[in-house]
Amino acid sequence: MRESVDILISGGGVAGLAAAAGFGAAGYSVVIVDPAPPITEGTALGADLRTTAFLQPSLPVLRDTGLWTRLEPHAMPLQVMRIVDAGGAEPEARIVHDFNAADVSEQPFGWNLPNWLLRREFVAHLASLPNVDFRPGTGTKALFTRESEALVTLSDGAQLRARLVIGADGRNSKVRKALGIGVSTTRYGQKALAFAVTHPEPHGNVSTEIHRSGGPFTLVPLPDHQGKPCSAVIWMETGPEIERLRDLPPEAFTDAMNTRSCGLYGRLELATTLTVWPIISQIAERWTGQRCALMAEAAHVVPPIGAQGLNMSLADLTTLLELATPETLGTPEMLQAYERRRALEVKLRQVGVDALNRASMLESRPLRDLRAGALNALYSVAPVRRGLMQLGIGMR
Ligand SMILES: Cc1cc2nc3c(=O)[nH]c(=O)nc-3n(C[C@H](O)[C@H](O)[C@H](O)COP(=O)(O)OP(=O)(O)OC[C@H]3O[C@@H](n4cnc5c(N)ncnc54)[C@H](O)[C@@H]3O)c2cc1C
Repeated sequence: MRESVDILISGGGVAGLAAAAGFGAAGYSVVIVDPAPPITEGTALGADLRTTAFLQPSLPVLRDTGLWTRLEPHAMPLQVMRIVDAGGAEPEARIVHDFNAADVSEQPFGWNLPNWLLRREFVAHLASLPNVDFRPGTGTKALFTRESEALVTLSDGAQLRARLVIGADGRNSKVRKALGIGVSTTRYGQKALAFAVTHPEPHGNVSTEIHRSGGPFTLVPLPDHQGKPCSAVIWMETGPEIERLRDLPPEAFTDAMNTRSCGLYGRLELATTLTVWPIISQIAERWTGQRCALMAEAAHVVPPIGAQGLNMSLADLTTLLELATPETLGTPEMLQAYERRRALEVKLRQVGVDALNRASMLESRPLRDLRAGALNALYSVAPVRRGLMQLGIGMR
C-alpha cells in the first residue's frame, strides 16, 4: 500500500535538510530521503570541511524554521570583506581594500559555520519534529507524476504519494533527470581545496580573498581551534595544480599555502585534512515539472566566490514556503510562480559570479594589472563600493 505525504524531499544535503525543517515547521507532513547517511563529525572520514557563510537575507528563514537558535552559538560573524590583489611579479599583497559591513548595515555581512556542524544540528532539529520523517540510507529510485500527485518509488521498495516533490538531490539530481530536464554547464578546469588552518594573528572577523592567478585563496573566520585563531580556507586553482598540491608532503604543502597567503595573519598551520571539490557553473533548463520543484544545486551551481551558493538555495526555500498553502501545494500556479520568482534572479547572480571567477583566474601579468586597476577604481567611488556590498549580500 502506498503511503501518502504532503511533501517528499529527495536529498538530505544542507539544502534538503533545511527544506525539511522549513516545511515541517509550517505543519506539512514531510518525508526526506538520502542514500548517503549524513556525516556529523568534523574529524570523520568523508566529513564536509567546507563552511557556509550565511548572508543577512538567509537569517529570517533560519529563524522561522527554528534552526538559528541551534546555530547561533557556533556562528562566527563576518564584519569585513578584505580583497587583496597579489598579482604582481612576486606573491605579495600589493593592493588591500576593506569592505566594512558597517557602511551599509548595523549587522555583519554574514555568519560562518562548518558544513558538517550544520548537518549535525539540522538532523538533531528534524528529530524533534513529529511530522518530519528523515530516512537516511534510502534514495529516490523512480518518479511518476500525474495532475493530482507524484508517485515516488524509493530504493528500499517503499512507494509514496506526495502532493509536492522537492528535488534537493544535488548537481546530478535524480528528480531532475526523471523529469527529463537538461542543464547548461560551464567547466572552468578548476578545482578547490577546502580545509581549516590556525594562525598566530587574530582574524578580527575579517574574511580575506587573495587574488593572484588560478582562482582566489579565501580565508573565512571560524571560532578558535585549540586556543589559536582559526579560519576556513578555500583555495581555487587549475585541476592539475590542486592535485599536485594535495599530493605534496605536509611540510611542502604548508610552505606552498604560506607563499600563496602572502604571510597575512602570520604562518598558517593545517588544522584539518584536505578535501577537493570540482568547480563548475550549472543551471537547469526548467526549475519545475508536474508536482515537482527543483531547488539548490539540483537547480543551480556556482563557483564558491562571494558565498552565493547555499544562500541562493535558502532564497529558493523562502520562496517555496511563501507560495505554499494547504490549498496550493504542488499546483501548476504555485510551481509557475516559483520558477518566475527564482530563475532570473539566480541567472543574474550566476553571470556575476562567473565574471568574478574568470577575473580571478587570469594568468597573464598585463591582465592581472588591469584587474588590480579595476579593483582600485571600483573601490575609490563610495556609492559604487556601497552598491557592490549591498548587491553581494543580497540586500538588493
Ligand atoms: C568549496 C566550496 C565552498 C562553498 N562555500 C559556500 C559558502 O561559503 N556559502 C554558500 O552559500 N555556499 C557555499 N558553497 C556552496 C554550497 O556548499 C552548496 O550549495 C551546498 O553544499 C549544496 O547543497 P545541496 O544540498 O544542494 O547539495 P548536496 O550537498 O550535494 O546534497 C545533495 C544530496 O542529495 C543526495 N542524493 C543524491 N542522489 C539521491 C537520490 N537518488 N535520492 C535522494 N537523495 C539523493 C546526496 O547524497 C546528497 O546528500 C560552497 C561550495 C564549494 C564547492
